[in-house]
Amino acid sequence: MRNIRRIIKKLAYGGVIAVGGGLVVATYVYPKFVVTKRKFPTVQATGSQPQYATAPLPTREQMLASLQKDEFDILVIGGGATGAGVALDAVSRGLKMALVEKYDYSSGTSSRSTKLIHGGVRYLQKAVFNLDIEQYRMVKEALNERANLIEIAPHLAYPFPIMLPIYKWWQVPYYWFGIKMYDLVAYNQLLKQSYFLSKGKALELFPMLKKDALVGALVYYDGQHDDARMNIAIAITAAKMGGTLANYVEVLNLTKSEDGTVNGAKVRDRLTGKEWFVKAKCVINATGPYTDAVRTMDRENVKKICQPSQGVHVVLPGYYSPDKMGLLDPATSDGRVIFFLPWQNVTLAGTTDVACDVSDYPTPSENEIQFILQEVRNYLNPDVEVRRGDVLSAWCGIRPLVSDPNKGDTQSIARNHIIEVSEDKLVTIAGGKWTTYRHMAEETVDKAVEVCGLQPASGCRTKGLVLDGSHGWTATLFIRLVQDFGLDIEVAKHLSNTYGDKAFKVAKLATLTGKRWPVTGKRLHDEYPYLEAEVRYAVREYACTAIDILARRTRLAFCNVHAAEEALPKVIEIMSEELKWSKARQQEELADAKIFLRREMGLELRGASQNVPINFTKDEINLYIKRFKSLDRDNKGYITVNDLRRYFKKMGERVSEDQMHDILNEVDLTKNAQVDLGEFLQLLAALKRGHHMLPTRRFGRFNLLIKSDSDY
Ligand SMILES: Cc1cc2nc3c(=O)[nH]c(=O)nc-3n(C[C@H](O)[C@H](O)[C@H](O)COP(=O)(O)OP(=O)(O)OC[C@H]3O[C@@H](n4cnc5c(N)ncnc54)[C@H](O)[C@@H]3O)c2cc1C
Repeated sequence: MRNIRRIIKKLAYGGVIAVGGGLVVATYVYPKFVVTKRKFPTVQATGSQPQYATAPLPTREQMLASLQKDEFDILVIGGGATGAGVALDAVSRGLKMALVEKYDYSSGTSSRSTKLIHGGVRYLQKAVFNLDIEQYRMVKEALNERANLIEIAPHLAYPFPIMLPIYKWWQVPYYWFGIKMYDLVAYNQLLKQSYFLSKGKALELFPMLKKDALVGALVYYDGQHDDARMNIAIAITAAKMGGTLANYVEVLNLTKSEDGTVNGAKVRDRLTGKEWFVKAKCVINATGPYTDAVRTMDRENVKKICQPSQGVHVVLPGYYSPDKMGLLDPATSDGRVIFFLPWQNVTLAGTTDVACDVSDYPTPSENEIQFILQEVRNYLNPDVEVRRGDVLSAWCGIRPLVSDPNKGDTQSIARNHIIEVSEDKLVTIAGGKWTTYRHMAEETVDKAVEVCGLQPASGCRTKGLVLDGSHGWTATLFIRLVQDFGLDIEVAKHLSNTYGDKAFKVAKLATLTGKRWPVTGKRLHDEYPYLEAEVRYAVREYACTAIDILARRTRLAFCNVHAAEEALPKVIEIMSEELKWSKARQQEELADAKIFLRREMGLELRGASQNVPINFTKDEINLYIKRFKSLDRDNKGYITVNDLRRYFKKMGERVSEDQMHDILNEVDLTKNAQVDLGEFLQLLAALKRGHHMLPTRRFGRFNLLIKSDSDY
């Protein structure tokens, strides 16, 4: 029966392929024509661009003063991608707008995405097979926005190839058809043409891919970006164009006029506790997962529309993926899609999809991390052992999935965004995705203008409106940074790709290294290109806390939570100089950031044995410390692979270099190629309780190391 079903399935796919054959053939010829002629939409906001590009950025204090005295056309609640997009749309139409964000820009879901700018290959598959025109339009719209985003912030967003490995011959035409359709739907916004790779070529490009049964791979293009920086760039652009934006200002409640229309909000500055009212003709709720919390401020018993679901990402070292190619697993063991992507010199793997409660502190769970690691293992060569201890950080975002309140069935999740206008004229924009933030903003401001009777100077101008940092940027700008400032090339590339033409301003703040080369640019952490100077620069761009720096202004916490913890004291020291923090504030910042790293970035979720209590008798402790010291011959305070090599040689045990390397890596919880006393005791505690991480063959060797009574 199963065989028959499989044959029918193949025939069905064959039919689809036959029908689409002509179409597909056309895509081979057609994109070549289109790509060469590809032209992004013309920039409509040309007139105002040079002025705002050089405009000074108002200080947060100036923004707060404006929020307290001015009256606005629009007040936006929420400074994620959606809210910042609405702010930019409104201000570029000549509307007087304000935006308040209760934490930092992008601190919610918008900094925790998969970093893809995509149309959604999966949705297109549904559109084609279910002949669903709504899905098709959604993909089409997202593909247009994908091109626009790369055009308006070329330093931050770029075309990015993703490989889809194929392990069954019959899937080749099936996926090939789907991917070619994706190219075709992109039409004149196609980034680059997709292509098929033979098995050999696929392995050449992605050597860590599982070889067995691999028949080839398809490569298609989407976009990738630094989501938090993109969000900040949108907010900064809005601020430079005359918008009033303030982070760490929370809406506590909505205010209404006598006829019950929403006409502003009561807000609180979370840094000082000061409260006041902001007046606006129209209030827009762009609070992502908090959509219903703000709708409830309007009408207490309003029917909820947000069904939050959390998605976890696991970060692995960069060597797990090739530099410039991602991987897509289109059907995981439970039917989800998993991406495996190089990003900022690390590898992102994710994501999950689990119903959750809305929280300011989304926390990844060990189960989700294990699930992702298992899925990754399924795709990689068994030689590449994906270990729990390799996880550099793990974080989680909450999808603001919404059901359409205008449809009777509130159980069904809207596939796209929804815009709701309440009886009291609170405008809510919810759902959608990062990629489509601009289009969502355009429709939202159109709606606000219509229902609140606003008088904009023009229609929407954000298509092609380049973002702050893009005006003078070129792909070779980093060379000038190296030449003019004596910066390390990796650092120069990072600054150029983060700040665009503003990289020069950051570089000017860079201090001397005291070395012959690089001349300037002290790093926050040796392993990452983030500079101390970026902390000072970020303060000028409204960073208020150490978490802002670690999580969003640099991406250190997202890339490597241990490195972030190590850089934390330096971040606090620099911010204290810039913001004149008292000793008490410094302590508070340290404590808050440590909680953040533990709770939200996976600091506490290291190796399994770390959770094992160290429960030794005094004699055992003394014995184990003695053993540690005897291994650590040179009294370095840690054991290295050399110490292990020496030990096994002395004991007459034949242990290969690979086994030695494995043993060290399994025990080395912090992944610094050294086992300190704490890690050593953790391992012994785990072994004592029979709760060890090592596979039996390696465990045997280690057990010998521990049980042996002889000093050597
Ligand atoms: C795991 C995951 C992966 C994803 N990957 C992708 C991807 O690769 N590509 C893509 O296009 N999309 C992706 N998405 C979707 C995308 O990230 C979201 O759709 C988008 O970030 C939502 O932005 P937002 O501004 O609506 O919400 P948020 O970013 O959450 O912003 C809402 C803001 O409102 C603020 N706020 C809440 N209440 C108040 C209040 N009372 N006063 C003031 N401020 C308030 C919050 O602090 C928050 O900053 C992903 C989503 C998830 C969860």
